[in-house]
Amino acid sequence: MTEPGARRAGALPPIEQRLREVAQVLAGAPSAVLLAHVNPDADALGSALALGLALHGRGVEVAVSFAEPDIVPQSLAQLPGQHLIVRPDDLPVRPGLVVTLDVAAAERLGRLRDLLPVARTVLVIDHHRTNSGFGDVHLVDPDAEATGVLVARLLDVMGVRIDADIAADLYAGLATDTVSFRNVTSATHRLAARLVDAGVRPSELLGPITDAHPFGWLAMLSGVLGRAVRVPGAVGEAALVHTCVTLEDAAGLRAEEVDSVIDIVRTTAGDGVTAVAKQTAPEHWQVSLRSGGARDVAVIAASLGGGGHSWAAGFAHRGDYPSVIARLRAALDAAETAGGAGIAGP
Ligand code: MN
Repeated sequence: MTEPGARRAGALPPIEQRLREVAQVLAGAPSAVLLAHVNPDADALGSALALGLALHGRGVEVAVSFAEPDIVPQSLAQLPGQHLIVRPDDLPVRPGLVVTLDVAAAERLGRLRDLLPVARTVLVIDHHRTNSGFGDVHLVDPDAEATGVLVARLLDVMGVRIDADIAADLYAGLATDTVSFRNVTSATHRLAARLVDAGVRPSELLGPITDAHPFGWLAMLSGVLGRAVRVPGAVGEAALVHTCVTLEDAAGLRAEEVDSVIDIVRTTAGDGVTAVAKQTAPEHWQVSLRSGGARDVAVIAASLGGGGHSWAAGFAHRGDYPSVIARLRAALDAAETAGGAGIAGP
């Protein structure tokens, strides 16, 4: 990071310039529709609620929404600002300003993508390297560990005080997107400290998000983990470890339980790649990928029509489970042939 004293006037780094432009866009808006991606995680919904609370506090008419599921995931129901959440059908038909948060591509909005062409301005705030640039104004920084980091920087530029509620929303996304502060810079640790100073109680906040599963989760895990397959040498020298969660496995359980599987499986893949295929309908799969460090799974996912981060990404597939794995292995082989989709830098 450049020291302020070393910076020449008029030569702001692009991201700081961009933060000011975005702050101006927000300052001029009487209303704002803030959208998270489908099946919102703590970073997507937390970022939207944090920005929503900040704008609402300034007298802006705010609606926060997402297309699926119909209600807020149970694990995120304690994030402050729930009163700002509006069902998709109740959103303005022709919004002035739409802000998308943590949304890498228009398709990730589900049916709410229909708002993009009718909105006067679409502002995209995101940290996915694969962001497709579908808005009018973009605050996209792949070096930000969470979209919440960008929102925090934006609030500072806007002169908004980060109170305990806003802090909780930001902290939830920060803690989960960094895998409990594993993938994190010292600057983001300092941000986390600020948020705790503002009133966040990490253990109370994160308990429902990461540490609360129903007992039936264990039976699902025993089946899903028991059928995991390890393919040595599928990723250069490294392994691919994969399993699937069928509709039958997931019956009666929440998305939170299904999504937890990959965090267990990935611990067995070394520096290789982990894939968990989640069945969403007969012959329909949403495939989550994780990298242990040797490969950039955003590149692999992008080659399969998906996207994400270098360490966590995903794509959709139609067909049976063997065809999911065959397609993934072909993409991994193609990336090897192309010189390896290695992660650059430390
Ligand atoms: Mn995120």
